[in-house]
Parts: sequence; structure tokens; C-alpha cells
Amino acid sequence: MAILPIRLYPDPILLRPTDPVPQVDDEIRKLVQDMVETMTRAPGIGLAANQVGVPLRLCVVDLNSGQEPGGLVVLINPEITEASGTQLGEEGCLSFPDITIEVTRARLATVESIDLEGKSVTLSAEGLLARAILHECEHLDGKTFLQNVSSLKRELVKRQIRKRIRSGDWVDAAAK
Ligand code: ZN
Repeated sequence: MAILPIRLYPDPILLRPTDPVPQVDDEIRKLVQDMVETMTRAPGIGLAANQVGVPLRLCVVDLNSGQEPGGLVVLINPEITEASGTQLGEEGCLSFPDITIEVTRARLATVESIDLEGKSVTLSAEGLLARAILHECEHLDGKTFLQNVSSLKRELVKRQIRKRIRSGDWVDAAAK
């Protein structure tokens, strides 16, 4: 397994929609292992493949950051088929180190995807798990959580990021 470098905003790979995974093979399973290790190290509760430089529609979510077994969700070619209700909460993102913003999302989400054996799976999630899945699927669509805030707030965050890039304080948490 390996720790992969995390791409930070505004890396263009974060701003382009990803391509479907053509087939689940050993290369994909290895990528998933590396992504889980990278997410655990950071630590974070979710990671999309384009955040580690691979433009494929695949993400991992683990609300315990790999600290407890059984919490890992691997979503290959996920599609949100249902979303309802609303929840407001603070979100972070491994591509935006040390930045949290308040984001409104659906409270319940159903996602269809395929698993590591290539089988179709449907998952219904609520609360924080739904939030994390929606956040990661947004990455896979070539978007970031900044799209969910007002343009004023977005400009404030972007200004803060430019300042941190200039001072050399915009670095990948998993690489430390
Ligand atoms: Zn993110």
C-alpha cells in the first residue's frame, strides 16, 4: 500500500468530471487500498479518486477514518438516485486543508454503485454518512463544496487560499 499525494484546490483535476471505471480489476482494487491508506493517514472521512490524481468515478468513505473496522464504504461509478430532507453542518475537505465551511445538503441519500467484486449495490444513508457520500460524489462530478456557498463566501475562501498559497501554507495533510 502507499500514501498518495492529495491534489489541492485549485488543481484542474478537481474541476473536471471523472470518467466511469471501465472494469473492477486488481489495478482498481490496489488504487482503493492506497486511497483508504491515504484517507486514514490524513486523516479524513472521505476521498475521491480525482483528489489523488486519478480521473475515475470512484470514492471511499469511512466515518471512523479507518480507526475501527467495518466502516468503510467503497463506491465505484456511484450515482445518487434519491436525495431528500435537508441538513446544515460544517464540512472539511482534504483538498482544502484546515478550511471548514457550512454546507446545506440532503439528510437522506440513496446511492447505486458497484463494489470491489463488480456487483451492483444500493446504499441508503442518512446524516453524516449521507453528507460524506454527497460531498465525494460532488468531487466525482468535477465540483467542490465551494459550489454550495454564496458567491461572497466563496470569494472570501478563495482569497484566503491565495494568501496561503503565497505564504507556502497550502500543503497536503497526508504528506506531513
Ligand atoms: Zn472533499
